[in-house]
Amino acid sequence: MITIDYNICDRMKGCPPARRCPVQAITPVGGEGFFNRKVDRWEINESKCTGCGLCIRICPQNAISKKAK
Ligand code: SF4
Repeated sequence: MITIDYNICDRMKGCPPARRCPVQAITPVGGEGFFNRKVDRWEINESKCTGCGLCIRICPQNAISKKAK
């Protein structure tokens, strides 16, 4: 299971893992509004995620990791 450490994630709207996930499994919650640069949190949709690990490698904050279920 791929998880986001919310103590580390900077919640930026430009999140590279969210942009580059091949199956669009990383989606924002909150953060609507043109001037808002951050989302409330990013979520990983387990039913879409293939576990490829791309997001783990490219997260600039190293906030994403793989955990045993
Ligand atoms: S492990 Fe792969 S499929 Fe799953 S959220 Fe990360 S980039 Fe997307």
